[in-house]
Amino acid sequence: MAAAEDPAAPRLVDEVVDVLIVGSGASGAAVAWGLVETRLKILCLEQGDWIKPAEFPTNGRDWEARRYSDFDIHPSRRARDTDYPVNDDNSVMKVANFNGVGGGTILFTAHFPRMHPSDFRVRTLDGVADDWPIDYWTLEPYFTENDRMMGVAGLAGDPAYPAHEPTMPPVPLGRSGTRYAQALNKLGWHWWPSDISVATTEYDGRAKCINLGHCTPGCAQGAKASVDITYWPRALRGGVELRTRCRVREIVTNEHGMASGVVYYDPKGVERFQPAEVVILAANGIGTPRLLLNSASARFPNGLANSSGLVGRNLMLHPWPQVTGHVDAEMDGDRGPQTVMWSKEFYETDPSRGFVRGYTLQFGRGTGPANEAITNLGTGRLPWGKDHHRAYRTLLYHRMLVGVACEDLPEEHNRVTLDPVLKDSHGIPAAKIDYAISENTRRMMEHGIARATEILDAAGAKNIFASRTVLNSPGHLLGTARMGADPERSVVNEWGRCHDVKNLFIVDGSIWVTSGGVNPTSTIQALALYVADNMKQRLASLFD
Ligand SMILES: Cc1cc2nc3c(=O)[nH]c(=O)nc-3n(C[C@H](O)[C@H](O)[C@H](O)COP(=O)(O)OP(=O)(O)OC[C@H]3O[C@@H](n4cnc5c(N)ncnc54)[C@H](O)[C@@H]3O)c2cc1C
Ligand code: SF4
Repeated sequence: MAAAEDPAAPRLVDEVVDVLIVGSGASGAAVAWGLVETRLKILCLEQGDWIKPAEFPTNGRDWEARRYSDFDIHPSRRARDTDYPVNDDNSVMKVANFNGVGGGTILFTAHFPRMHPSDFRVRTLDGVADDWPIDYWTLEPYFTENDRMMGVAGLAGDPAYPAHEPTMPPVPLGRSGTRYAQALNKLGWHWWPSDISVATTEYDGRAKCINLGHCTPGCAQGAKASVDITYWPRALRGGVELRTRCRVREIVTNEHGMASGVVYYDPKGVERFQPAEVVILAANGIGTPRLLLNSASARFPNGLANSSGLVGRNLMLHPWPQVTGHVDAEMDGDRGPQTVMWSKEFYETDPSRGFVRGYTLQFGRGTGPANEAITNLGTGRLPWGKDHHRAYRTLLYHRMLVGVACEDLPEEHNRVTLDPVLKDSHGIPAAKIDYAISENTRRMMEHGIARATEILDAAGAKNIFASRTVLNSPGHLLGTARMGADPERSVVNEWGRCHDVKNLFIVDGSIWVTSGGVNPTSTIQALALYVADNMKQRLASLFD
């Protein structure tokens, strides 16, 4: 019998809580705050630490180097003792995340689009994958509430995007944005200043952006909306308890097949049992299936909540080619925020393109001096010797880059399993990723690369280069415990409750049915607030 059902196993037992949340990232923070008004006893267990603003690389001149060490986006390279390893050898795309209070929002670029209404209806519209059991309009009030909590800069009125009112004025287009806009105007293609969860004015006690530099390894100014400074202070004031350096090993079930709590390791490495009336998983699209699979027991031999066999399957990672070029004038370089505008020209399906669904084009400002040097040494554009400095001057801060955010459709063979060999520092099996890019997505990528090349060409760029094989790792981890009405074809129902375990909920990116062609955090958080609201409405039945 596995430990998940072994009441005789020796362990320390904590005081019971009403609601236990695993993970303090984008969705864990939102659901904790969403439940505050219930006055229930709510506890969140997080394996990582609070990160102090003084520790962020953006404070120092070595910020670029630290993106390849203690603030690397890949957990195995970052290798903090609070990280768990992920084996992605059998995947062309690599994993990116952060394990600490705030989760991925500590490192995220804060580009903040919503899914579009069509993204929830791809089976109806295009005959592929499945429709979501909810639609955009169900989530709309939660998008608005989340925008208010995070603070979103943008410009209302985009004709190719759902109507909404950003809470702050947009980030200025700057030199790069203006050049992209002129190129897109030449081509007659859509563009708009992008929504970004960065404060462009003082907002909710947060200072405004001073264009310090790359936001991705953390914003010391506090302008970027990582959830450690947005949701968490309010949730903690509301009485939620957050315990750091507590790594959950498995979810325990009782004789009725209900979750009774979790086994976790406390900061001293001591194994404990935390009893709970309701358990909510917010450990992301890899951490959540890892936990469910590691909670196999005699009653749930294939992993918890896995009677459909879909836990870990349908992993979607958003293939994201990047096309770069250099222009003759200085652009904005490493001045943040990095993303300034988007184009939705190719977002919706057009059958003449040879693929279904579509992509967003995202326009970046540039990169820092070290990255410019390293990437150009490889291409031969930056020679050693007497021409080195002259050549470098033509490259540094002259870069333009267009990202192609492709919708990734669900496929069951793309999946998360438990690695048979690799383990984390507590001996818990690591996650293993098997993932391949589908033919539909490959065609979409090529189409996007060709269009991005046209844009850079129209902007007067030279050295145009597309990265296909060295794919970006956007850190969008989706689909591995999908939502649906049919228990045979989904893991959770239309309000995040596991079909198989009635007091177990999932709120992170695992529950996505399809991925859209946008960065996911705005929609992940809207979903978490929506699940919290549904739980509140059904409170009585939750504690039966
Ligand atoms: C470099 C980078 C750039 C990104 N840029 C953008 C962007 O511009 N826009 C955008 O929308 N999205 C972006 N993302 C993605 C964004 O960060 C994620 O979509 C978002 O954080 C996911 O939220 P989540 O709640 O599902 O999981 P996470 O935020 O990943 O939180 C999960 C938390 O659970 C904890 N946890 C996991 N397992 C356990 C366990 N066993 N015990 C205890 N705790 C556990 C983890 O430590 C972590 O803190 C980016 C991500 C990265 C890494
Ligand atoms: S550019 Fe703005 S949001 Fe980004 S790190 Fe700097 S101050 Fe923060």
